[in-house]
Amino acid sequence: MLFDKFRDMADFQAELAARDIAPFGAVTEELLSATEGIVDGRRVILAGTNNYLGLSWDPRCIEAAREAAQRWGTGTTGSRLANGSFAGHQALEREIAQFYGVDHAIVFTTGYAATSGMVSTLAGPGDAILLDADSHASIYAGVNLSGADIIRFKHNNPEDLARRLRRLGDRASQALIIAEGIYSMYGDIAPLQEIAAVKREYGGYLFLDEAHSMGTLGATGRGAAQAAGVEDDIDFFAGTFSKSLGAIGGFCVSRHPEMEAIRYCIRPYIFTASSSPSIIASTREALRIVAAEPQLREKLWDNARRLHQGLGDLGLPVSPAPGPVVAVELEDRSATIDCWKALMEAGIYVNLVVPPASPSTNYLLRNSVSAAHSSEQIDAIINAYASLVERGLAAAAA
Ligand code: PMP
Repeated sequence: MLFDKFRDMADFQAELAARDIAPFGAVTEELLSATEGIVDGRRVILAGTNNYLGLSWDPRCIEAAREAAQRWGTGTTGSRLANGSFAGHQALEREIAQFYGVDHAIVFTTGYAATSGMVSTLAGPGDAILLDADSHASIYAGVNLSGADIIRFKHNNPEDLARRLRRLGDRASQALIIAEGIYSMYGDIAPLQEIAAVKREYGGYLFLDEAHSMGTLGATGRGAAQAAGVEDDIDFFAGTFSKSLGAIGGFCVSRHPEMEAIRYCIRPYIFTASSSPSIIASTREALRIVAAEPQLREKLWDNARRLHQGLGDLGLPVSPAPGPVVAVELEDRSATIDCWKALMEAGIYVNLVVPPASPSTNYLLRNSVSAAHSSEQIDAIINAYASLVERGLAAAAA
């Protein structure tokens, strides 16, 4: 039957409804700041966004968006190839290429389109793709569309990557290797020095998705490769405007001149409308701020360390190292749902992550940190978890 495959999801939805919660349908009814809002009728601290630098709420970004909407209208109503390339799109491409110190950049309407569009176009039948097993859904979508041979290497495991490249023999030098800077669920950072060394030994082209690391890592916010000092080994940097830059959209930059031909072969670039002028304008302002204000990154990391330490001190099973994402990993679905609900009642909104969105069969309370959180807000998050532990809600899983 056509609908049989949705039965498990329907059952899960019924279970959540019976508990009177809707973790995947929570509605933000009002935003009070970058870190506070009214969600499902309750005033909460937002600890489940990707607003790592708080820039979605920055007055300079808002003013840039307002001004652009007034001058350019609300949308382009066309794809980049037709009527959808405005001066702002081109300027953003120039600025993001300059930010990365390379000559070529393509701006996409979403991050999902950037990663899936690039990898599905770069590799085709007869090519080999080696991707980290925990890659984001947009990367999987792209590689599945590519028609290339798909080889997964163990998450963050350069030795396994080397083994698989070795097995490819002569084909290794033309393979597309895909990794992410910071992984979105546990917040762990890829061992890029080791991955780059493997690439130097066997060849191939390295594609790095810096979605969660652009803005949050590196001296000027270029991401994990900048922090690891291996930018010269990266062939393609991809990323999104929907996290540190506080808007929506995606990009890919590269030093390879072939990018200008590749651009016209990417279906999610050709067959979708371009970003609205206001989004492009706020993103340009946010990019300028990311480069000019390293203190935002410092505050983000202070908050990340404070939250990681606080949750760790409670004995909770947290991600191994502090970062913009601090996940609490639990084995029991029911206990995790109870925790999510109790956190909401305590005024803390986090992400409930269930398989297959979580990388294992476990369940996650995914907390994300922002430079815009005050230390008091971070402490309020820790205190809410402390009361879960006191009430025995999280203890069962810890
Ligand atoms: N890559 C990664 C690693 C991501 O986590 C995400 C979004 N969660 C994307 C790409 C897609 O970005 P966007 O949501 O901006 O489309």
